[in-house]
Amino acid sequence: MTSLMDSVFRNRAGDAPRAAQIGRGLEQPVSPRDAYVIARFIAFAALALVAWSFQDGATSQRLALLLVGAAIAQPALPLFGSDQDSYRLVQVISDVLTSAIAVFLAPAYFWLGVVGVASIVANFAVLTPMRRYVPVAICSVAAIGAAGALTGIDQFARAALLLAILAAGHGYMGARTRQSMGAARGDVLEAISAAGGFAYVCDLQTGRIVDVAGDVERVVGWDTDSWKLVDHRDLIHPDDLSGFWLDFDDAKVGEYADRTARFRRPDGTWVWIRDLTRVVTIAGRRSLRGFSIDVSSQQDGLARVENEAATDELTGLPNRRALLAELAVREHQVGHHLVLIDLNRFKEVNDTLGHDAGDELLEVVADRVSACLGPTDVLARLGGDEFAIIFDGELDEVHVAAEVERVAFEVERPVEVSGVVVTVSLSAGIVRAEQGASDPVTMLRHSDISMYAAKRTGVTSVLFDRALEAVTSRQAAIIGSLREALDSGDLCLHFQPIMDVGTGVMAGVEGLARWDHPDFGLLTPEAFLNTVLMSEQSGEFTRRMVLHGVAAASELVSAGIDVTVAVNLPVRVLEDPAFDRFVLESCDAHGVDTGRLVFEIAEQDIHDTVSITSAIDRVVQMGSTISVDDFGTGHATFERLRWGNVEQLKLGNEAIRDAVERSRDRAILKSVLGLAVELGYSVVAEGVETHEQLDLLRTFGCPLVQGYLFAPAMPIDAVIEFAAAQRGRGEAGRVSSVPPRPFD
Ligand code: C2E
Ligand code: CA
Ligand code: CA
Repeated sequence: MTSLMDSVFRNRAGDAPRAAQIGRGLEQPVSPRDAYVIARFIAFAALALVAWSFQDGATSQRLALLLVGAAIAQPALPLFGSDQDSYRLVQVISDVLTSAIAVFLAPAYFWLGVVGVASIVANFAVLTPMRRYVPVAICSVAAIGAAGALTGIDQFARAALLLAILAAGHGYMGARTRQSMGAARGDVLEAISAAGGFAYVCDLQTGRIVDVAGDVERVVGWDTDSWKLVDHRDLIHPDDLSGFWLDFDDAKVGEYADRTARFRRPDGTWVWIRDLTRVVTIAGRRSLRGFSIDVSSQQDGLARVENEAATDELTGLPNRRALLAELAVREHQVGHHLVLIDLNRFKEVNDTLGHDAGDELLEVVADRVSACLGPTDVLARLGGDEFAIIFDGELDEVHVAAEVERVAFEVERPVEVSGVVVTVSLSAGIVRAEQGASDPVTMLRHSDISMYAAKRTGVTSVLFDRALEAVTSRQAAIIGSLREALDSGDLCLHFQPIMDVGTGVMAGVEGLARWDHPDFGLLTPEAFLNTVLMSEQSGEFTRRMVLHGVAAASELVSAGIDVTVAVNLPVRVLEDPAFDRFVLESCDAHGVDTGRLVFEIAEQDIHDTVSITSAIDRVVQMGSTISVDDFGTGHATFERLRWGNVEQLKLGNEAIRDAVERSRDRAILKSVLGLAVELGYSVVAEGVETHEQLDLLRTFGCPLVQGYLFAPAMPIDAVIEFAAAQRGRGEAGRVSSVPPRPFD
């Protein structure tokens, strides 16, 4: 208490005297101008007139004079005691004195005096406690008795006795009345207390509580006196103050307020108080009359719900909603960055090791990213394997890109989940808050565009710019027309011949996707493949391409051309348990032997060797061949050679080109080729463009070649013509070191 008051006085030193005064409570000081005082003045003046009208000679003059004096004394009474209690006492003393003098002056009206005094004390009996009433009643009886004795009225002793009996009766009645009034008030207060509340009156001008009833201490922790003395602005939580505090100037009488705020308890904890109040006038002063209840449990529940709604359950990080809110806070600022992060290959972990492992991985990622960030940066999980970072403050792009690299480095370190060591990489889209594009929705959309650009191009991060948006709208147009293109056959396979180096004849073809787009012309996979594979229609696209491959195989067989047909597949399709059924049914429908089909999977696409091995086994059992595409561009090249059921390896364009140019690469190509052939793989060298390359490959014992030197990818009819022309040319058309042109 002392320390509280100290702090109040320290905080608002100038207000100290005011603070000290306010403790007196509800009772407004009685002023000479109060209506009540004026009414008494008028009443005494009127009585004086009545006394004057008695025409009783000197007696009525003296009485009238006395009553005029009493009237004049009324406005002076508050000077002897201005608070309600003191005024009441001064008033009753003055009234009894006036009555006693009146009796003394006009003994003929003796009984009137007795009745008057009796009614005065009756009023006092109801309003004041016994301990104040009793002396006043005794003095009144004594005064009247003395007045009677002095004037020699013979019945004065009996009259005084009667007055004493009346006073005692009034005293008893007053005590009873106060008790029952108190009990009624107690019932109401008990009800309010039971609801965890208390009632109060507050002076709006000072902002202080002037009267309070109920168990204040239980609710707010402060005892009643402290609660009245302290300036509540010092107790209300700063965040709640503006919503709670009513300004004197704004509050209109009759206005109702329902407000909630946190109040600081003496022990430093907070209690939520809901306050229902009305602006009223009490004794001429604008005041608040209302009651306060403790709503902490409801508010805490609300806060918990709000908190849960803003938190990602798995990682405890802010969720999408919270991120949007954080961005909204910065809506009118520029210079901060939003980074959208998406993990690559997360789905594989989830699918092969299970959801628990996936969750575990996400938690590790969340921890690692958090550890990279500064105290003002915000990390959120948007759902699935998507995270977002807000880098606060003005940073230049190079700095942010470096930060993202650091995050990527941490995330890409191997993680052990469910006893298996896995690695994931990430793709990030960075967007800087610029004038006119710093609202949450735009920022998120732009970061999404750049994140997909990063995924498409296989880099860690891409910074958003306007050109990217144009590319994206083109991608959107592509996706938009995909379905139609698949149905119309605008998007289909062209076939590139694969030549046998030894015999010089076409040994197979590889299907490569081509899109004859009505707006953009003939598109190669570079323009659409990643977008399509990332879209929801990726599965449909792949099935259609496989069907094109099967149809081509059937046409080639019909034309008497005995070759294999290769189709490129994303690993995730190969792993789909429904895939072999689909292939079998497609082959059945076209009367094609599954042994004609080769499925090419890119080496970089292979991560989890356990699940891929069983998928490969299923395909091999079906009679088809698995070819590992772009072999040597991924990691652990030789380790890959240990897979039992892979039959074919394809060496990428670069390996062949570099081998001609650099002796070191030539040595590598020679040893890889030698080892692969030794291990029994059929090897295809791709991207063969020159005779020099072909000669080198032949020297190194490469059995199969593919490239522009022989033919580009062509519609199936052109492939059939190509084969026919080759047959027609016989030996001369065969693959040789010095053909005039690979084909004409
Ligand atoms: P890839 O499977 O490695 O295909 C070989 C790529 O090299 C093809 O590019 C082909 O047109 C090109 N090429 C052929 N001969 C030469 C040459 O002598 N010199 C040079 N520089 N390039 C040559 P394309 O058709 O643009 O395909 C690119 C990649 O797209 C393919 O690489 C393949 O990974 C993917 N792809 C193509 N079609 C499909 C498909 O239907 N499904 C899937 N999932 N991927 C496909
Ligand atoms: Ca391929
Ligand atoms: Ca390839």
